[in-house]
Amino acid sequence: MELRANVPSGPIERKWEKHRSEVHLVSPTNKRKYHVIVVGSGLAGASAAASLAELGYRVTCFCYQDSPRRAHSIAAQGGINAAKNYRNDGDSVFRLFYDTVKGGDFRSREANVHRLAEVSVQIIDQCVAQGVPFAREYGGLLDNRSFGGVQVSRTFYARGQTGQQLLLGAYQALQRQIGLGQIAMYSRHEMLDLVVIDGRARGIVVRDMVTGAVERHSADAVVLATGG
Ligand SMILES: Cc1cc2nc3c(=O)[nH]c(=O)nc-3n(C[C@H](O)[C@H](O)[C@H](O)COP(=O)(O)OP(=O)(O)OC[C@H]3O[C@@H](n4cnc5c(N)ncnc54)[C@H](O)[C@@H]3O)c2cc1C
Repeated sequence: MELRANVPSGPIERKWEKHRSEVHLVSPTNKRKYHVIVVGSGLAGASAAASLAELGYRVTCFCYQDSPRRAHSIAAQGGINAAKNYRNDGDSVFRLFYDTVKGGDFRSREANVHRLAEVSVQIIDQCVAQGVPFAREYGGLLDNRSFGGVQVSRTFYARGQTGQQLLLGAYQALQRQIGLGQIAMYSRHEMLDLVVIDGRARGIVVRDMVTGAVERHSADAVVLATGG
């Protein structure tokens, strides 16, 4: 299988914003006709599934643990980076992009890392709105610390349990959509294979880890969020 990143064209700092402005929109009435499979319910999968469901798509989400709450995201301790420059110590989207590419040993997809740095600011706001109890200074503002050897303080944290607190926020958003009937959650299901039709991922084959039964699930698109 040929792996294509499908990174949009243009200057790196405009690629994804330009793509977002040019991509075809799906009308709200049509969204419910589309079905998306999300494999994984850690920070990536749970937030993708909840966001897609919130937009109106029908979602089926899979994980192999007993509960989405057991994803490995729970182990992250140090914190989450955002180029908010609260400390006025010279941070910027470019510096976060540069440090992340360097921290990834220059093996990451640079355009996607740039997008992450761009939206890092909104990610913190979304997490706060979801109720993630980030550490605060006595004045009430969100606290930051320097983490991972960088020279600026851009890491937002919740004591030594940032991943656990973030996962609680993502899990709540996921559960809300499960309750609304927008997401069907299959825990204790292990994906065995991806179904590809005409170059597009259209389904998965899974094993029910309790009964051992092998099942197939089809969709219009498949999101693989199976681990960082
Ligand atoms: C100890 C530790 C500390 C860390 N500290 C930090 C930190 O301070 N700051 C930071 O930014 N990052 C940190 N990280 C990295 C960060 O936590 C991870 O990159 C991130 O949480 C990964 O999220 P994820 O949703 O991609 O994957 P995961 O949370 O691993 O979720 C993977 C999901 O995929 C599912 N899955 C996988 N394979 C299958 C399959 N075959 N079938 C069905 N389901 C499947 C699992 O059930 C699970 O739900 C840390 C990581 C660790 C381990």
